Amino acid sequence: MRSDCIDPQALFECRRCGDCCIGFGGTYLTDEDIKAISCHIGADPEQFIARYCRRSGSKLVLAQRSDGHCIFWDKICTIHPVKPRMCRKWPFIESILVDAENWLIMADSCPGIQTDVPINAVRKYVKKVLGEDNCNQ
Ligand code: SF4
Ligand code: SF4
Repeated sequence: MRSDCIDPQALFECRRCGDCCIGFGGTYLTDEDIKAISCHIGADPEQFIARYCRRSGSKLVLAQRSDGHCIFWDKICTIHPVKPRMCRKWPFIESILVDAENWLIMADSCPGIQTDVPINAVRKYVKKVLGEDNCNQ
């Protein structure tokens, strides 16, 4: 695959296994995520944070159940229309730009991620996706 001609499906195709909704290091929340999810579930942001979030360093992440699943997982994502930016963008997230090897690490837990692709193509596509996202905010 040429890195200037990227077919997203060659990089990633979700298998709908649900594995990304359990166990990962945390689903980070933006301020926009907090507003959207609070509104969707009919809570004010403070209530939402107290009931559904945890701190990870200086950031807020979604809480997990005792079995490790995301608090909003119930065989499907129960907040799909407003799921956090990180979930919407997965696996095209900032950490790939920090270290492209993260693509391979993430692939260990996500069967939809293709590893037989040029890592430069992955980086280029992540930059494109995140650039578009920044433009839309
Ligand atoms: S782990 Fe990957 S393939 Fe499975 S549901 Fe999540 S994004 Fe899709
Ligand atoms: S918000 Fe939805 S998609 Fe994101 S981790 Fe939780 S259940 Fe999965």
